Amino acid sequence: MTTFWGPDFEELRALDPEVADGLLTELDRQRSKLQLIASENFASPAVLAAQGSVLTNKYAEGYPGRRYYGGCGEAVDPIEQLAIDRAKALFGAEHANVQPHSGASANLAAFLAVLEPGDPILAMSLPHGGHLSHGMKLNLSGRWFDVASYGVREDTHLIDMDEVRAKALAHRPKLIIAGWSAYQHHLDFAAFRAIADEVGAVLLCDASHFVGLVAGGAHPSPVPYCDIVTFTTHKALRGPRGAMILCKEEWAKEIDRAVFPGSQGGPLEHVIAAKAVALKEADTPEFRAYAQRIVDDASALADGLVERGYRVISGGTETHLLLADVTTKGATGAEAEARCDAAGIVLNKNAIPFDPLPPAKASGIRVGTPCVATQGMGTGEMATVADLIDRAITGTDDDRTAVRGEVGELVGRFPVYPRPTD
Ligand SMILES: *Cc1c(COP(=O)(O)O)cnc(C)c1O
Repeated sequence: MTTFWGPDFEELRALDPEVADGLLTELDRQRSKLQLIASENFASPAVLAAQGSVLTNKYAEGYPGRRYYGGCGEAVDPIEQLAIDRAKALFGAEHANVQPHSGASANLAAFLAVLEPGDPILAMSLPHGGHLSHGMKLNLSGRWFDVASYGVREDTHLIDMDEVRAKALAHRPKLIIAGWSAYQHHLDFAAFRAIADEVGAVLLCDASHFVGLVAGGAHPSPVPYCDIVTFTTHKALRGPRGAMILCKEEWAKEIDRAVFPGSQGGPLEHVIAAKAVALKEADTPEFRAYAQRIVDDASALADGLVERGYRVISGGTETHLLLADVTTKGATGAEAEARCDAAGIVLNKNAIPFDPLPPAKASGIRVGTPCVATQGMGTGEMATVADLIDRAITGTDDDRTAVRGEVGELVGRFPVYPRPTD
C-alpha cells in the first residue's frame, strides 16, 4: 500500500511563507465574508485534493488510448476516460471532451471546429448579459468573426425569440450562440434549434453559468437541442477551474481536433481528475437538493430585494442569479459593490440592460446563490441577506460595521471548510 503523497501545506509554509500567508488570507476571506458572486463556488475537499495532486507532473497530449507521450496507460488514461464517461452519462451527451482549460478556451475550440475567419455569427450582446467570448470587439471572437447580436426587450427584459429569428434571417450566421453570464430566465432551446435549422446554422449553447443547475435537474437541458454545448466546471457545477465540451457524434472528431492540437497543448490531467470527482458528486441526491436550493434561494433573495424597493431586472429569477438596479437607492453599481464589500458582502457591479452608465460604474449589482446554497443556507436566510445588502448599500459607515458583525454571525452558522473546532 503506497502512502499517498499530496500537497503539504507545512512544507509550503516553511519554503515560501509569503505565498502560504496569501493562501491563508484567501481562505479566511472565503470563510468570513458572505459570498454572492454568481460565478463562484466552494469546491469540495475531494475536488481540491484531486486538483492538488501529482497528476500535474504528467504530459498527456492526445486522448485516452492515443497519446503522444508514454506513461499515460496506468493512471491518466483511466482517469480521463472516467471523466468523459461520467460527463456523457450525467448530461445524456453523445460525446464529451474534458480537456478545455477554461470557458474561453472551450469556446475558442468550438469556433475553430465550426468557423473560418470572417464567418458570420449571432450571439447575445455583452451589455445585455452575454459573455465577452461571444463576440466582444476586443476578444478574438469579435476580431475574427462578423458578429451580430441579440438582446433583451426594453419592456420585459426578456430575450425576444422573434428578434433572434429576424436577426438570424438578416445576418445568416454560420453559428448561433445561446448562453449568458447575466440573465435570469430559461432559454427557449427548442426555438433556438428551429431558428438554427431555418438558416442552416450550427447551434452552440454556452451553459457555463447554469450547467450546475442542469446537472442537478433544476434547469432544462440544452443537450438534446444543441450541436455543441460548452461550459465551465467551476461555477454552479462546483468543480475545479476549467471547462468541457459536449457535442453530437457528428461533431466529435472536429471538436477533439479543435481542442488538441487545434488550440491547446498538454491537458491538465490534475484538473481533469478533479472534474471527474465533481461529476461524481453531481450525480447524487445531495447535489440535486443543492441545485434546487440555489434556485429557491435566488427567488427568495429577489423577493426580499423587491420588498425593500429595489428594481429587480425582469421582476425575478428562475436561475441562480438576479440583477438589481441600485441607482434608485443612491448608489452606482460600483459604489454598491464597494459598500457591500466594506460590510463583508462580496458581490459584483453589473450593467443592466439599456444601462445609461458606463460598465466601470454600472447601474446594477449581480447577486448569485451557488456559494450560500453550498453552505446550506435556505430561503429563510435569504430574507436576512436581502436586509443586510440593503443596509450595506443605503446605510452609514456605522451601519456597515454593524452589518459586518451580522455577516460574521450568519456565515459562522454555515461554515465552509470547517475548522476542527467548528
Ligand atoms: C464564465 C463564462 C465563460 C468563461 O470562462 P473562463 O473560464 O473564465 O474563461 C464563458 N462563457 C460564459 C457564458 C461564462 O459565464
